[in-house]
Amino acid sequence: MDNFFNEEIEREVFISEEQLTNKKIKKLYGRYFEDTKIYNIFPLELENRGDYLGEVKSSARELTDGFCSVYESNKLHFYYDKKELKVTSYNLYQNIFSRNSGILETDIMKNKKVIILGCGSVGSLVAVELAKAGVSNFLLCDADIVEYHNVCRHQCDILDVGDLKINAVKRKIKSINPSANVLTFEGIVQNIPKDMLDNYCKENDTIFVGCADNRSADVYANRISIYYNCYFISIGFWERAAAGEIFYHIPGRCEPCYECALGHGTSASSRSIGNHHVYSNLEDVEQVKFEPGISVDINFVTIIGIKLIIDILNITNKDYIPRLLNYLKQYTIICNTNEKTLGGDMVTIFSYPLQVSTSLIVGFSNKKCHDKKCCQYEMKEDDLSGK
Ligand SMILES: [Zn+2]
Repeated sequence: MDNFFNEEIEREVFISEEQLTNKKIKKLYGRYFEDTKIYNIFPLELENRGDYLGEVKSSARELTDGFCSVYESNKLHFYYDKKELKVTSYNLYQNIFSRNSGILETDIMKNKKVIILGCGSVGSLVAVELAKAGVSNFLLCDADIVEYHNVCRHQCDILDVGDLKINAVKRKIKSINPSANVLTFEGIVQNIPKDMLDNYCKENDTIFVGCADNRSADVYANRISIYYNCYFISIGFWERAAAGEIFYHIPGRCEPCYECALGHGTSASSRSIGNHHVYSNLEDVEQVKFEPGISVDINFVTIIGIKLIIDILNITNKDYIPRLLNYLKQYTIICNTNEKTLGGDMVTIFSYPLQVSTSLIVGFSNKKCHDKKCCQYEMKEDDLSGK
């Protein structure tokens, strides 16, 4: 299309430096945008998701009409109707994260590892945001399939319906950072093989993120995170996501684990004890169901959890200034609405919408842990034997 002055917009090629100088490339995949006349050649990891754009000819004599390329003097040259095109090349990795620089250290974030337990609306947002923050290692765990009813609150969409959530989220991560390492496990946290975790978990670099809307899965996950001396966080919701709750555990601080603080999630009594400081009426606790509501409410709470995750992953980074970690206690509740008609009696504990608690204290519900001021899973063996 010509513009006002009848000048044709010049065709242009975007390609990574790695590909520009790769003489093994024979076919070009990516996307061409008619409005901008830009050919975006996809990184090799994503080429199966691109359209076929043209081939790389072995010499300039073989040039044909349309879009094609020739490898000459150590790099690819691109042509349209035999006329050479302008090329913009970029260092893929540096370019993706250039706008994080000065705020997040890309080289540090790259080595961080996250285990996402549950890849629904919460887990998919955690994955996408951490990929954007530069985290490059993911272990995704979920057994579900993306269905049409997920689309209104999941990071994936209709193009992913029918596939496993772990595969759909993996594609999403790769389309942000093609060099991210993404492992997947089709199942629940309790079934992840120990070998897989032994090879994956690394002290100070790994966080387990409970996004499964399931207290007993969170109890289990926090127990394994302690076993590996890794971090843990859980993000859960009250009915219709009128409010959400975030719990984190940092090993070595003698903090209560999820089970110590909030009960093991199978018996009513322990959960009530765990929550009695929050809920005025013990009976109400039984009404708490993890039943997420609309995307904006889920995401508001989840984003606060993700900010905490980024702070936690940088605990050992002396140059990093935490945003939330010094203010938010181990257990934080976050209000989306304090309207009783929307959230029920429970939300009337909040004074105003968007309130974030900063002073709730959780303790050790188990007497042994309480007496020792240490979670049983963190106790050393001589502590356990009562010496
Ligand atoms: Zn504990």
